[in-house]
Amino acid sequence: MTGLLPWHGSQWALLKSRLERQRMPHALLLHGPTGVGKRRFAEVLSQSLLCPDRNEHGACGACPACLQFQAGSHPDCLVVAPLQADPPPEFGQFPSLPSQQGRKAPKTPVVAIDQVRDLSGLMLRTSHQGGWRICVLPVAEALNPAAANGLLKLLEEPPEKLVFILVADEPGKLLPTIRSRCQMLHFGIPDPDQTTEWLDSLAGTDIAPADLRVALAMTRGAPLRAMVLAQAGCAGQLDELIETLGQLRGGQLAPLAVAAAWERAGAGSVLDYWRFWVAELIRCHLGVAALLETEARYRATIENQANGRGRAWLLGLLERLNRDRNLLNGSINTRLLLDDLAIRWAGSGS
Ligand SMILES: [Zn+2]
Repeated sequence: MTGLLPWHGSQWALLKSRLERQRMPHALLLHGPTGVGKRRFAEVLSQSLLCPDRNEHGACGACPACLQFQAGSHPDCLVVAPLQADPPPEFGQFPSLPSQQGRKAPKTPVVAIDQVRDLSGLMLRTSHQGGWRICVLPVAEALNPAAANGLLKLLEEPPEKLVFILVADEPGKLLPTIRSRCQMLHFGIPDPDQTTEWLDSLAGTDIAPADLRVALAMTRGAPLRAMVLAQAGCAGQLDELIETLGQLRGGQLAPLAVAAAWERAGAGSVLDYWRFWVAELIRCHLGVAALLETEARYRATIENQANGRGRAWLLGLLERLNRDRNLLNGSINTRLLLDDLAIRWAGSGS
């Protein structure tokens, strides 16, 4: 664990004061955009509650309870993580429940009712070390209807010294009755200077400045998500997509060959970059500043590609890309979907 993030001070101060006054909420809902560190905060808070030697900054980091937590084996902390074939990197922090092992993971993240039932063990027994017991749901919107109802029953009769920590990027997808039983704690996009300072301070990362600027534009300043994109070399990937789109439009590349290459490269990632790029072209049409405005090298290309297309056509394409991005999580034929998009882009589209 790497401690509290610099932009989480107010949320931390609030809970610290509740804890000191022995008024810790029995259920918390940490919500806000993807990539601002909500799950990291849940980890810091969980470890702090479990540490018998915690100080004003949180867990001591050295006692047996802290070492158990860091090894993912603290008996008083259960994580009900969704079953998912390819969990995003920021979901990989917590240990998994034993019952998840050996299950066939679906493409879309799902928390099933039997995972919530696994909680009964934690609910029934007393704490191993006489302190708090914690249940973390790192992707609360993944609860299926049966699991959500199961959780609601548990929230209605909260045992003493047990804290539920729910984390959600889209809290609107949760049952209103679940939301109303939780203390809501919002996590927003931090100040850009704070984000840049934090990213610069990370030891051992050699992120290229261009990758960092593109990543911050693509994530609208969400630091943890920006870091993942920057480390993956997002500027190069965006450049490659823009070049391909230009050649596709100019007839130098055949749509079906491009679609095949996109499928090999990973359709989800291609659509994410493409959606971002089309939104930039739409901003150009509307006369709104591009998110990439700090990157002068994109200016001419944005104008060029935007001017060749009608605004309504671009808006229709963005809607289609958003829809198709969601369809990728289901049983859709990815290759046909990409073929169709490539043909559409290569066409007149004005
Ligand atoms: Zn400790």
